[in-house]
Formats: sequence, C-alpha cells, structure tokens
Amino acid sequence: MEKSELLHLQVVVELPYRWAAGRNGSLMLKALRDEKKIIGNRCPECRKVYVPPRAVCGPCFIAPDETVELPATGILAGYSVVNYPFIDPETGEKRPVPYTYGYIQLDGCDSYLSHFVNETDPARLSPGLRVEAVFKPDGERVGQMQDILHFKVSEEKGG
Ligand SMILES: [Zn+2]
Repeated sequence: MEKSELLHLQVVVELPYRWAAGRNGSLMLKALRDEKKIIGNRCPECRKVYVPPRAVCGPCFIAPDETVELPATGILAGYSVVNYPFIDPETGEKRPVPYTYGYIQLDGCDSYLSHFVNETDPARLSPGLRVEAVFKPDGERVGQMQDILHFKVSEEKGG
C-alpha cells in the first residue's frame, strides 16, 4: 500500500465565553480592580480566613460572614518552575517558559492563592520566602485575577 501525505488544516477558532464570578468572587474582583485590595472572608466558627472568599467554610459548613482585607504580602508556600509550554488562555499563544506557578499564603490568611511568581531560578526559590503582589497600574485593571501581574519574591533565599 502506498503511503499518502497527510493534509493539515490550521484553523484559529475564537471561543469567547463569560461566566458569573458569584457574590464573593465579584466582591473580591471589584476590590482588586477599583481599590487594588485583596479581599477575603472569615468563618464565624473556626475564624479561618479564606482568599478567594468562599461561600461556605468546608470544615464548619457555615457561610463566612465577615469580609477581611488582606495585605499584598505573604509567603511562598509551594511552587513549580514550569518548563513545558501551554497555550495561555489569556493570549491564545504559548506562554514563554520557564515560568513559576506558586501557592501563596497571604499574611493573616489560612488558605492559599495560586498565581505566577517572578523568579524562575529554582536555586533562588524555597518554601517560606516572602512575596508581594505586583498589581497592574491604575486604569489597566479590569476585575480578574490577572489584575495581579505576579508575586515578586521580596527576600533572598536563606536571608
Ligand atoms: Zn469554619
């Protein structure tokens, strides 16, 4: 049997979509956009603080009822330096590698926020490093998590 050449079609498909962020998500995203603030909420029973704010505290099964403003600082609780490109949903292009994705525990918060970290050298990263959110400038924030550009490592490893 004779091999035939496979034909390829390259098609760019646009798939715009929207979804509701919900009451708590909207509260957080509006504060991020309008006030450059990170908002969470606190459970009345166990006093845990969640970011993003949650509709229900899982362990207590109670709606957190207190809005809490958190600082833009915290620690890098865990991270991955990623060397495998993927299609960035924000741009539709391959995200340049390497990049670091981290789990951030903001000061005064009990949960973790996942976001990009500016340091990509594994030798300069370790759990517990101090980090600080870098926000988009005023007028450029639109009410999404990407209004935080990334978290900047604010201390030297071992320092
Ligand atoms: Zn609770």
